Amino acid sequence: MFRRKGLIETVNEAQRASSMAVTSSSMLLLRNFSTAGRVVQSVRATSRICFSTGELIRVLPHTRSSRFICSTRAAHNEEAAAKAAAAVAETGAPTIFDKIIAKEIPSDIVYEDENVLAFRDTNPQAPVHVLVIPKFRDGLTMLGNAEPRHVDVLGQLLHASKIVAEKEGILDGFRVVINNGVEACQSVYHLHLHVVGGRQLKWPPG
Ligand code: 5GP
Repeated sequence: MFRRKGLIETVNEAQRASSMAVTSSSMLLLRNFSTAGRVVQSVRATSRICFSTGELIRVLPHTRSSRFICSTRAAHNEEAAAKAAAAVAETGAPTIFDKIIAKEIPSDIVYEDENVLAFRDTNPQAPVHVLVIPKFRDGLTMLGNAEPRHVDVLGQLLHASKIVAEKEGILDGFRVVINNGVEACQSVYHLHLHVVGGRQLKWPPG
């Protein structure tokens, strides 16, 4: 692992597989989420770096948040994880988000009210990447399960997303993403909105 002092910090060296080198004065790492509904990740750096598939690299930009982490996991891993998650999605089993809501495991909370919790994604795809979730799942494993009784909480989630964007200083440009189901690589079956921003986002997504 080549480290560029002050810029790149290895976060997770587990799952190291094949190494690859990228040489460019302006490197573009594209993480294609491969199916509909995902955000395209773009990371620009200014030097040669080497990285390994499955490895997380923290990129500390000069002027923005230090939480910009790039995952180079292969897209097929995400698809496999999404399929595995979907297999138990409707069992009603608790998810990792239940533990976060119960504060049984720590999270970096950005916003919280009676019905909504917003916390930073542990695998951020941009300098700002916050998950906004309902505290009471009430059948909302995914947006596709929404019913008329969910209208209020769905509105609250969108409004909370705007509050998060405001708090994070990205109100002028941000994206709200909901991955719904296997073909969108949903991996946690507790409805969540990704609030992503802090860099130029590309369109169309992967
Ligand atoms: P999905 O792929 O279902 O749309 O998004 C699930 C998100 O939850 C992923 O971006 C993943 O990084 C995030 N995530 C999974 N486990 C945890 C966790 O324990 N803590 C936090 N903060 N985020 C998590």
